[in-house]
Amino acid sequence: MSVRTGESVFDWIDTRAGARAKAGLARRVRPRPADSADLDLASNDYLGLARDKRVTGAAAAASLRWGAGSTGSRLVTGSTELHTELEYELANFCGAQSALVFSSGYAANLGALTALSGPGTAIVADQHIHASLIDGTRLSKADVVVAGHCDVPKVTHALATRGKRRALVVTDSVFSVDGDLAPLAELAAACREHEAALVVDDAHGLGVLGDGGRGAVHAAGLAKAPDVVATLTLSKSLGAQGGAVLGPSRVIRHLVDTARTFIFDTGLAPSSTAAALAALKVLREEPDRPARALDVARDLASRLREAGLRVSAPTAAVVSVQAPSAEAAFDWAEACRARGVVVGCFRPPSVPDGISRLRLTARADLTGADVERAVRVITETGASAGAVSRPRP
Ligand code: PMP
Repeated sequence: MSVRTGESVFDWIDTRAGARAKAGLARRVRPRPADSADLDLASNDYLGLARDKRVTGAAAAASLRWGAGSTGSRLVTGSTELHTELEYELANFCGAQSALVFSSGYAANLGALTALSGPGTAIVADQHIHASLIDGTRLSKADVVVAGHCDVPKVTHALATRGKRRALVVTDSVFSVDGDLAPLAELAAACREHEAALVVDDAHGLGVLGDGGRGAVHAAGLAKAPDVVATLTLSKSLGAQGGAVLGPSRVIRHLVDTARTFIFDTGLAPSSTAAALAALKVLREEPDRPARALDVARDLASRLREAGLRVSAPTAAVVSVQAPSAEAAFDWAEACRARGVVVGCFRPPSVPDGISRLRLTARADLTGADVERAVRVITETGASAGAVSRPRP
């Protein structure tokens, strides 16, 4: 009898990896150099705050004072006065009644959805919600209806036909791949009409949309609504790390008692907590930064369109550029990188087949010369990738 060694247990992984590599879909972790002359149009640092000295300085000082890690879960030793202050400031800045900080936006979404729904409740979700919301709906064991994309009549129909079950409508405010906006006011009206709660992931709205960057939920006049909950990440426009849920105080209280990603996860590191606080202070002191990010996005989009590319209409800081195929998107992004411009590349399985694209993010700290360089490189490389639909004028 042969001796079992266990060597073959994970052979199936090699088979799958081979298939992915053959389809050109293998993913790669590429460390980012600390100092690089590359032009970054791929990060979500919309306001250029991740390396702002006021933000990094606050993070360093908090580490020295409170320690590198938070040392425990939020209900044991993982809450410092910085966490309480950040919760107060986030609620105050965004106009919500209360806020609760999580270790990431992903954890905030899982926590909010599992705590607010469950078996026997209904979730009506937009088709393009972020992966973390999708996972939250699955983990909740609620009955999920996917109601198209930004399709208010479909959402309304699903709510009207759900019977007596409690219901949550779940959407992103700004959809992360194309940067388009959810019809928040209409969704909120449908929820109000049909006694449902609205959960909005405002990850890409905070710091970009609304008065002084207070987010899309604030802009829609829903920040204090008794039936609306917003989730946030601190890792995009605030340049830090972490997540939060904002909403009515009784909802936040309920999350403290029941959200498993709050209760069983180690609290957010003091450095990240302080960084987010410092970034919020910058936003208050420099309320024009969000508008600058939007201007850069519009400038980038209109110039790329003039050059013959198929570009989304930017309603936030995300600009998406259509690629002819998944392979072309990959080659195009690589060609941009080789010329010092780093762009995001979305292809299956992150997006459905047939809509591969480059995802560009505008930042408030990009100069006119940066935008010009980006447009030149993206259009020149796009011509080789077959993405330019007409000759350049
Ligand atoms: N929601 C959306 C819309 C996002 O884009 C992201 C980040 N990619 C998240 C949630 C998750 O946030 P975090 O990175 O803080 O976990």
